[in-house]
Amino acid sequence: MSRFLSAERRALTPYTPGEQPRGAKLIKLNTNEAPFPPPQSVVDAAANAAQRLNLYSDPEGTALRAALAAYHGVSPENISLGNGSDETLAFAFAAFGGAESAFAFPDVTYGFYPVFASLYNIPYTEIQTDLSLKIRTEDYIELGKNIVLANPNAPTGETLPIDDLARVAESNPENVVIIDEAYADFWGETAIPLTAKYENLLVTRTYSKSRFLAGARLGYAVGPAELIHDLETVRYCFNPYNLNSMTLAAGAAALGEDAYYKARWSEITAARDYTQNALRGLGFETTDSKANFVFARHADVSGAELLAGLRKRGFLARALGRERARDRLRITVGAAEQMRAFIGAVEDILRARKELS
Ligand code: PMP
Repeated sequence: MSRFLSAERRALTPYTPGEQPRGAKLIKLNTNEAPFPPPQSVVDAAANAAQRLNLYSDPEGTALRAALAAYHGVSPENISLGNGSDETLAFAFAAFGGAESAFAFPDVTYGFYPVFASLYNIPYTEIQTDLSLKIRTEDYIELGKNIVLANPNAPTGETLPIDDLARVAESNPENVVIIDEAYADFWGETAIPLTAKYENLLVTRTYSKSRFLAGARLGYAVGPAELIHDLETVRYCFNPYNLNSMTLAAGAAALGEDAYYKARWSEITAARDYTQNALRGLGFETTDSKANFVFARHADVSGAELLAGLRKRGFLARALGRERARDRLRITVGAAEQMRAFIGAVEDILRARKELS
């Protein structure tokens, strides 16, 4: 830290992203990326757009917002684009949070929420999940704070019924309720239709997981025009050209490839259910994940030991969760054959351990 870092920034604890090894032949099950490439039409659209990189990108993202609006059955004025949904979430914290406008979110959830709150000096409350790490809807009824809930939640993959989210929005009319749907495509349900009914409800989405475009950095919010206008105000105060032309083109092309994506989502969710069941059979406790990852803990083997054993066998996973959720592994679901190999590696770790004892 230099002596110039401002007093307000000294206490920041930044978010730590998962490892992105270069070169090493590791199977990456650590950052919830897809094991499949994007469709060729998406790659082609980005390559075409690259020919016009001498020009600034469209600050309004007109074509992509129109395509997203048609896809979700809303209007372009209901969509705000971000450089990854992390940026959209950051804009939302900046827009709706403040010294007098606190945020609340679960204690076991996406680790970036407290970081955004700290960056903008927003007071926040972490509300305990129940003993099985599930969010209790009742804790958020008439809370009187801005709320952010990931649904499916991360890193548990557990879901709340959409009706419960409606009750949360309805009972907090003076505050904004943000539903982070980074993983919703793997589950198949969404709160987007509710944004037509509740003026305080915002949904964020990403292309990183279910559109296989993590490296393109593309996210967006869907919500009532006035909330979107507020996000756009922050965006124009920060970087009107927050999305590059290649990403804008790729994002629109991806929406025309639903058949490809849906077939792959089925493969991923089948591999998830296989992995979850196989781990339970090997003595793991797991949450009931509806996302593209599983969250698991072994009764006898620590998360650190499992991570080290997996790495030796060529697999990267991630240890996540603070306090009550400590010592669990979040394992991204890859392709079916990768998950069979992963379960083989776990069996091998448990076998080697038994032989030693
Ligand atoms: N929300 C949740 C719950 C996530 O797990 C992630 C991925 N780390 C994000 C948002 C952000 O994803 P991105 O910025 O790649 O869109």
